[in-house]
Amino acid sequence: MNERTLPDFKRVVLKVGSSLIAPDGQGCSTRFLLDIARLIQHWWRQGKAVVLVSSGSVAAGRDRLPQVQPAIQRALSGKQALAAIGQSLLMTHWQRLFDRPCAQVLLTRQDLQRRRRFLNARATLEQLLAWQTLPIVNENDTVAVDELKLGDNDNLAAHVAVLSDADLLVILSDVDGLYDRHPDQPGAQLLADVSTIDDKLRAGAGDASTQVGTGGMKTKLQAAQVAMDAGIDTLIVNGRNPDALLALESGFCPGTRFHASRQPLSARKHWLLHTQQSAGQLQVDAGAEAALRKGASLLPCGITAVDGDFRRGDRVDILSPSGLLLATGISQYDAPELHRICGQNTDKIADILGYLYSEEAVHRDDLVLT
Ligand code: GLU
Repeated sequence: MNERTLPDFKRVVLKVGSSLIAPDGQGCSTRFLLDIARLIQHWWRQGKAVVLVSSGSVAAGRDRLPQVQPAIQRALSGKQALAAIGQSLLMTHWQRLFDRPCAQVLLTRQDLQRRRRFLNARATLEQLLAWQTLPIVNENDTVAVDELKLGDNDNLAAHVAVLSDADLLVILSDVDGLYDRHPDQPGAQLLADVSTIDDKLRAGAGDASTQVGTGGMKTKLQAAQVAMDAGIDTLIVNGRNPDALLALESGFCPGTRFHASRQPLSARKHWLLHTQQSAGQLQVDAGAEAALRKGASLLPCGITAVDGDFRRGDRVDILSPSGLLLATGISQYDAPELHRICGQNTDKIADILGYLYSEEAVHRDDLVLT
């Protein structure tokens, strides 16, 4: 095992996937959780704060209703109902392993998108950590339909790391880390350190997922990117391997370490890129592309096409002349307004619309190059 020193940290988000909680596909097992609980207790003794992100509610619910047909179990409403049954079993299961109180925190994407909800969730987590409890976070599966969902707990864990101001994210999985190609292929090498997640890495990772969990390496890479962009280191570690957990306990880094960006995005730009969902697209000409790459705002005259039914204040993706994603930003105008002013010089906007919100279609302060 590759052992390197862990980065110094005070607050860690630990994500435990369904394949560790329900290694047989259903129920809650202690097979791997006893060692994980020992790791958490060790971190507590060192004065570190821990937030746990735990999957497993659907698998726990499935165990209680074995008579339900597989097709119904797989349907969205079936999974939501199983999560409702399993969530309390999951919490009870974790609580048995700790003397400190465990606190259930269920979140959806909307809780992270809306500023007031985000701040409320953040304040609650702060209070729970100040009281030395163990917050256990899961997606609020019962209410989250697709557009409200983050969809997988790898991404949820990364957003919780941002929400709770953590300085380390550890994703425990049933693989040793990220490999340069599928781990079953001959010659596959474990990547110990990753500083940039590029297309090659993404292609090598594929999206193989376990039968029990939702994610695979693809969602782990997305999660690592969210954390890295916020200045948070991410580790992928095999939670089935007691030696890997012992290495973590001793301050070493088994598995893969994704290094935090040296220039993290501002909170506003991070929220824009990773939390907001895009409501439309603007295609731009070559002149606008060059200007955006130099850090300029997007003016209506550089826009060649407008797509989607977005409103002023919504996130829009900005595409290059060849259709590649170039940037993302907040639109200063509704889509019908941009249809009327795209390709026009700034001094014409007020004449065409009868008013001028802004000279820019997307201001550079509200824009992130991708
Ligand atoms: N929220 C789901 C559950 O508790 C798991 C999602 C995931 O595994 O990523 O079963």
